[in-house]
Amino acid sequence: MPSPIGHALGGMAVGALVSGRPGWRLAAVCAVAGTLPDLDFVLPLQHRGPTHSVGAAVLVFAGAAVLLALRARRDESWRTAAAVALAYASHVLLDWLGADSSTPRGVLALWPVSDVFYVSGLDLFNAVDRRYWTPGFWTRNALALARELLILGPLAAISVSAGRRVRSYQRPGAAPPRA
Ligand SMILES: [Zn+2]
Repeated sequence: MPSPIGHALGGMAVGALVSGRPGWRLAAVCAVAGTLPDLDFVLPLQHRGPTHSVGAAVLVFAGAAVLLALRARRDESWRTAAAVALAYASHVLLDWLGADSSTPRGVLALWPVSDVFYVSGLDLFNAVDRRYWTPGFWTRNALALARELLILGPLAAISVSAGRRVRSYQRPGAAPPRA
């Protein structure tokens, strides 16, 4: 399963695509949102449990929508809240796509509807190794990070660039984006 850096890139990519607003503040919020499910490491919760679910993403959407509605235009609030919630949900997707050597394998993706842990088995991302005392710790994690950067880095860059083009097109009098 990806590292916090991979999750941040994934959150940033999804947030930029959904919001169409590539500003650094929203990009940073979406990057943080993409890492939030792993707070269950420090909270008294099961790792990859309820925080790694669509249900938690719905709660994030509701919370973000209320917060944004208090201080922003209503039409912007819904879209921005959706961007933050989907950035959060990207964490669930990336963990589902990653390798997992712990038990139970996978994520509690459909909480609270189901208590089944899901994993794709595709092993698109290497598992992050936290056993710092074992030989090869740094090499394994460097390779895992390189793989994440190769897959998610270009996606984040393309998404932010696409969001910027959409936003410039939305400005009054702006020319449509080139194909
Ligand atoms: Zn996770």
